[in-house]
Amino acid sequence: MEKLQGADLLLIGIGEEFEERSFLEAQPEYEEGTEYLEQMKRPDLLPLLADRMIRGRGRAVAALQNLYRIVMDKNYFLVSTCQTDILRLAGFPTSRVVTPCGTLEKKQCVCGCERSLAQVAESECAELYHAILNRSPELDALGICPHCHGKMALNNIYLEKYLESGYLEDWGRYTKWLQGTLNRSVCILELGVGLDYPSVIRFPFEKMGYYNQKAAFIRVNGRLYYLTKELHERGRSIAKNAIDWLLAEDI
Ligand SMILES: [Zn+2]
Repeated sequence: MEKLQGADLLLIGIGEEFEERSFLEAQPEYEEGTEYLEQMKRPDLLPLLADRMIRGRGRAVAALQNLYRIVMDKNYFLVSTCQTDILRLAGFPTSRVVTPCGTLEKKQCVCGCERSLAQVAESECAELYHAILNRSPELDALGICPHCHGKMALNNIYLEKYLESGYLEDWGRYTKWLQGTLNRSVCILELGVGLDYPSVIRFPFEKMGYYNQKAAFIRVNGRLYYLTKELHERGRSIAKNAIDWLLAEDI
């Protein structure tokens, strides 16, 4: 905690534990919804379904609000593999966030036309969520691609032709921010990051922790909390689910 509060620069990774999978799997509406989306061949809508369940009854947003209170006045950057809206709901400004696995805020056509990328309206999300719960025969609220007339879908990693250009601008901001951390004391805080997408957060964060002699590395994870040998000196490992950790009273 001292390391965290004393750090000028903070690099934060948010991973799979914030998807609240066991909570979701215990919700009958979620199970029915995923089954339906599978039938409709619309896996891109899974994060939307998860988002609406989590924001109503989950704990991820409250946990991230605690994190936001700690870091809001610091120079931080946040990388998340979650595709839900939890970071925005917790208060994090989009200028300090990159989500390489996609977001609910953008849509693209399923054929992958580069120019099809567009913003999603809140009303489109509301309509889609309603359609999922009602097992509607149509899931077309996102419209049609003006270029190829194919269906529009949410811009995320579940698509076969996922347009990574959706997050490139944010990624550019992230790499620029990283350049400013070279040889400076940066606190690397990795929260609930598993091995689903290790090349996005886990491996590059470890590498940065290893190469930057002034870095402090904190890993919080309920299952995959071990640290590599190289990080033992500068690293701390906390064997606790990251949401539980952030919601603990002493934070
Ligand atoms: Zn298209």
